[in-house]
Amino acid sequence: MRDKVIRALILDKQVRLFISDNTALINEIVSLNEQNHRILNVALGKIVSGISLLSATLKGEQRLSATFTLGNSKYKIYADADSNGNIRGYNSRNSLKAETLEGISIKELIGQKGTIRMIKGFNMSQFTGITDMPYQNIDDDLSHYFKQSEQLETLIETNLDFGKDNTVSHSYGMFAQLLPGASKHLLKEVKEKINTNSNIFKNLKVMEDIQIEQQLKSYFSDSLIIGLNGIKFSCGCSKEMFYGLLYSIERKDLLEYIHDNKSIESSCHICGRSYIFSPSELKLLL
Ligand SMILES: [Zn+2]
Repeated sequence: MRDKVIRALILDKQVRLFISDNTALINEIVSLNEQNHRILNVALGKIVSGISLLSATLKGEQRLSATFTLGNSKYKIYADADSNGNIRGYNSRNSLKAETLEGISIKELIGQKGTIRMIKGFNMSQFTGITDMPYQNIDDDLSHYFKQSEQLETLIETNLDFGKDNTVSHSYGMFAQLLPGASKHLLKEVKEKINTNSNIFKNLKVMEDIQIEQQLKSYFSDSLIIGLNGIKFSCGCSKEMFYGLLYSIERKDLLEYIHDNKSIESSCHICGRSYIFSPSELKLLL
């Protein structure tokens, strides 16, 4: 079954709460990145998990693009989402050298200089927000982003379990945001209630919507499910996008490929899809 974000209103409609089991999505993205360091997989997984929850806040043509710059500023993690739940995420190609990662924690990976940059909106109307990462743990830093940049009291929590072979055996998360006029202490209540009942996440995949609502009602008596947003990995790359790269090939090299009747293969570093340009297609570039 496709992963989804469940959207609910709780606590007298003062808080909007999203919960999600996004194991399939996060597993696909982490495995496509082929990082052999667990800590990079954890960072990527948590970031994409957070962004996948945020996709449920988008409307219409809105998109969200996030760049997390870690302590070593050469190292970045990117995640994008649109309102249809198409999500992608990837590590910068400038990965840190393996030996610099030995035994380090998420806190050390983010360091003192981590930043979050988010661009939200659509073509003509975009909003960019940049904040630091004072908590050095991704979840609280994402919450901090909302407080600083959008003046919205928000709570984001993501959880990942890895199997022995670096695959993600379980990934889930929640997003809770105060609606205008709500009192601040409510988020603490949500955090405590959900964390002491985290079993709900283990069963989200197999529960009917009505059962999820009943379960939420047992924590917050007036819970109301207002929608479900499907989420899935989608790179969005296309053959056309790769034509641009081919223009950087020198004319004499192109002529050689055409003369030798050879194709050029180019592959996307985000999803691994290969695009093959035949000699007749290469001729169009001359
Ligand atoms: Zn791609």
